[in-house]
Amino acid sequence: MEKQLNQIQIDAEKDIKESSSLDQLLEVEKKYLGKKGSLKAILSQIKDLSIEEKKAFGKLSNQIKVVLNELIFKQKKLIEDQEIQNQLQNEFLDVTLPSIETQKGSTHVLKQVQKKLEEIFINLGFEVVDGPEVESEKHNFEDLNIPQSHPARDMYDTFFIDQKTEKYNRLLLRTHTSPVQIRQMLKQGAPIKVLIPGRTFRYEEADATHEHTFMQYEGLYIDKDISLSHLKGYIEEIFGQFFGSKIEVRFRPGFFPFTEPSLEFEISCPFCEKGCKVCKQTKYIELGGCGMVHPNVLKAAGVDPEKFQGFAFGGGLDRLAMLITQTNDLRLFRQNDLRFLKQF
Ligand SMILES: [Zn+2]
Repeated sequence: MEKQLNQIQIDAEKDIKESSSLDQLLEVEKKYLGKKGSLKAILSQIKDLSIEEKKAFGKLSNQIKVVLNELIFKQKKLIEDQEIQNQLQNEFLDVTLPSIETQKGSTHVLKQVQKKLEEIFINLGFEVVDGPEVESEKHNFEDLNIPQSHPARDMYDTFFIDQKTEKYNRLLLRTHTSPVQIRQMLKQGAPIKVLIPGRTFRYEEADATHEHTFMQYEGLYIDKDISLSHLKGYIEEIFGQFFGSKIEVRFRPGFFPFTEPSLEFEISCPFCEKGCKVCKQTKYIELGGCGMVHPNVLKAAGVDPEKFQGFAFGGGLDRLAMLITQTNDLRLFRQNDLRFLKQF
């Protein structure tokens, strides 16, 4: 029996040392020291021995148990250390490796132009305001002196929305930023000095200079004793700053239902002195429309035209962007082709 015990110890020691994982080691532990293990099995034979032999046998088997437990403990530590080493090697993170290049975004060119314009207006005492893109027919047309039957409605190919509200009978996508004039005057009254930039929509076929979605800006200044000469001065100052050169402004008669008189404004070409491609050799560039705000518009917005008067002027923000980026096709701004957008 002593031989058997010694053999168990030899086998167990070998198995323990050959264990390379914790699972494997646990199996070995069970095999030799477990409830159904070899040591227990041999102990079941103890009852047939003499007392002396029982004692000796018990002592030996205990010694073996202690030795094996110690070996298992050491092997366990060894395996754990090895696993940590492996992990460190496999999951090694080299912080000095160059990172994968990330794509950097930038402000869209139209937004850049808008910001530039806003800064100039703000410095001249204007407040920047906005209104909803889904507008009522009332604010978009009627309040701006364009009643249902007015022939000027033909100027605006409108996207109507097939939905009614309790307050307004018909909704549409605003065809210009001017309804914000009404909203803002109703809100704050007069005097008022605001810049309204924003998206507008018309049912138009797209070509190099037309889009169904485009951006407008307009300035509104209502106070006591405001005249056309103030308007001329502001346009001169604003676009002089915008194009970074001294410019001249000239007016031509125009027609808009919401201004009286109505004018179109042109500025001397900021890109040349003797004529160039941009101004089509005319030395002047058409920039937008303007005029003194019609008394009917002031009334619709709750402002007394006997006490207050003022001007409004505006145009296409897309057009300004085309001019300063020397882009000849408006559609490029919204096609989101990075090759184009990255240039600005
Ligand atoms: Zn020119």
